[in-house]
Parts: sequence; C-alpha cells; structure tokens
Amino acid sequence: MKVTSKQLVDVVTDVLCDVCGESTSQDGQYSPQFGLLHAEWGYGSPHDGESYQVHLCEGCFFTTLASLKEQRRGNTTFSEKGAELEEEFGLIEGHQEIL
Ligand SMILES: [Zn+2]
Repeated sequence: MKVTSKQLVDVVTDVLCDVCGESTSQDGQYSPQFGLLHAEWGYGSPHDGESYQVHLCEGCFFTTLASLKEQRRGNTTFSEKGAELEEEFGLIEGHQEIL
C-alpha cells in the first residue's frame, strides 16, 4: 500500500548560462535547454577529488564547440581523419539529409 502526502518540492524552472548569465528557457517560456561541460576527476589525476559542471546556453555552447573544433583542427592538421570528423564533431544525434 502506498502512503501519500502533499509536500513542497523545489523544481528547476530555469538554468542560467554560466558564461553569459542568460536564461536557457527564454525566461520560463520553455523548459531549459542547455549544454553541459562536466568532469569528475579521481584517483591518479592531478585534479583528484575535483568536480566541474558548466551550464552553457545555446550560443555559448556552439561558441565553445567551435573553439574545440579549432583546437582539434590544430592537433590533426596532418591527419586525414581530422578533416573527415570535422563537421559532426561531438554530434551524436541530429539532422540528417533526406536522399
Ligand atoms: Zn551563454
């Protein structure tokens, strides 16, 4: 048997971008949509015990992604695979062209 009662619960209604401070829900019009840069460093890492979580609005996310692509381009300049993976860097699901 389930026993129920009414309780007040905190609900996330918006997530602010940690870079620019903008709302990621268009000030509550939609559910928050954001990118997340997350890391938990453990034993063996110079950052052992540190956790990071950076929320990014759509604009800051794609600016960050462009910066990472640029860094990757620099690391793979002389590699053929670097150019192949460039367009979909980080994309695991999304638009596909209809043939
Ligand atoms: Zn932002």
